[in-house]
Amino acid sequence: MSDRKQGFDTLQIHAGAAPDASTGARQVPIYQSTAFVFKDADHAARLFNLQEVGFIYSRLTNPTVMALAERITHLEGGVGGICCSSGHAAQIMALFPLMMPGNNIIASTRLYGGTYTQFTHTIKRFGWSCKFVDFDDLDAVRAAVDDDTRAIFCESIANPGGYITDLDAIGAIANDVGLPLIVDNTSATPYLCRPIEHGATLIVHSTTKYLTGNGTVTGGAIVDSGQFDWSASGKFPSLSEPEPAYHGLNFHEALGGMAFTFHSIAVGLRDLGMTMNPQGAHYTLMGIETLSLRMKKHVENAEKVAKWLEGDNRIESVTYAGLPSSPYYDRKDRICPNGAGALFTVAVKGGYDACVKLVDSLEMFSHVANLGDARSLIIHSASTTHRQLTDEQREAAGALPNVVRLSIGIEDADDIIADLDQALTKATA
Ligand SMILES: *Cc1c(COP(=O)(O)O)cnc(C)c1O
Repeated sequence: MSDRKQGFDTLQIHAGAAPDASTGARQVPIYQSTAFVFKDADHAARLFNLQEVGFIYSRLTNPTVMALAERITHLEGGVGGICCSSGHAAQIMALFPLMMPGNNIIASTRLYGGTYTQFTHTIKRFGWSCKFVDFDDLDAVRAAVDDDTRAIFCESIANPGGYITDLDAIGAIANDVGLPLIVDNTSATPYLCRPIEHGATLIVHSTTKYLTGNGTVTGGAIVDSGQFDWSASGKFPSLSEPEPAYHGLNFHEALGGMAFTFHSIAVGLRDLGMTMNPQGAHYTLMGIETLSLRMKKHVENAEKVAKWLEGDNRIESVTYAGLPSSPYYDRKDRICPNGAGALFTVAVKGGYDACVKLVDSLEMFSHVANLGDARSLIIHSASTTHRQLTDEQREAAGALPNVVRLSIGIEDADDIIADLDQALTKATA
């Protein structure tokens, strides 16, 4: 084939997968095998020395999982990637090669609730910490960086929606201070936003959501831009100095732009074991083939539903960056040219009671703690995921008692609106 660059719709079907060399199978087979036979002792030695890429044991690499990692890497425009058992696993795995006890990260205050908890409490067990900053306050982001900071972290379209991070501005700061920018691109997917083009070094995904697209399996992924110089500052010894956990290999020297990817496999997956299984990878490979088609419809529906809700007198407000009334509407064209996603929050007149009645009255929407499904989903955070928080914490997280979060599916927009209409009538009666 010529070396012309293939388009997104082609890559989402073909990247990372050729017909199976031994059987001719057209789809990517589910390689349900724990181990892979070495050709001979020399082959085994070369694999363990990372002199040759191949398969050893499925905690590290597996052909089905590798096909998915390659496909996501191509869609994001990176050089290497790995898959993990969940989005949360991907976040820990992304930080693992960068951090030592005593190090910190700077993260946006606008984050998925689970990520907020992971960064507030759980990473402290590793001796890491996180400083949360309003990423619209660029001076504050810059001022938060200290000698122990090792990464800057944000979401492209921040869950629960309505907010788009100015990745260009944050990417420029990361570049100035010589730190990698890690972007969680779950809510946008590479179809709506390509963070590497805005300065991201690493991208993390919960493949559980839109990449799989049908609410079947949990999974995660990390993609490396290959553009960060891990040796320049001396702050990333796992990558730029002899790694004691891998017989003294200097990953950056030996593997260049693939240093992060190989370290994540050879040390990260080997020792943390947050591995995606081949069956899970299969479901996500099936889903990803239609990613662009689904995202187009998700966005089209979300724009229609958000506009209808905004004009309805039972609603107080809608926060969706795809609405011209949003303060982030202009950012959308620059950061997410194909649309602002399908996730947003709605403030309902009648407060907590009306919201509870709304979720109980909906017939097609499902009341679940998930997003990015083909089905339309709703959650009332104040009575569920954010129940344990104080009023103050709920307000900071945008989980006020009168707010519901919608994840708009790819059903007929008229049916989505009709369901909301009948349920709002009951909720505000
Ligand atoms: C769901 C989600 C996660 C966590 O992913 P899991 O696959 O549930 O572990 C992280 N970030 C965002 C934006 C998410 O929506």
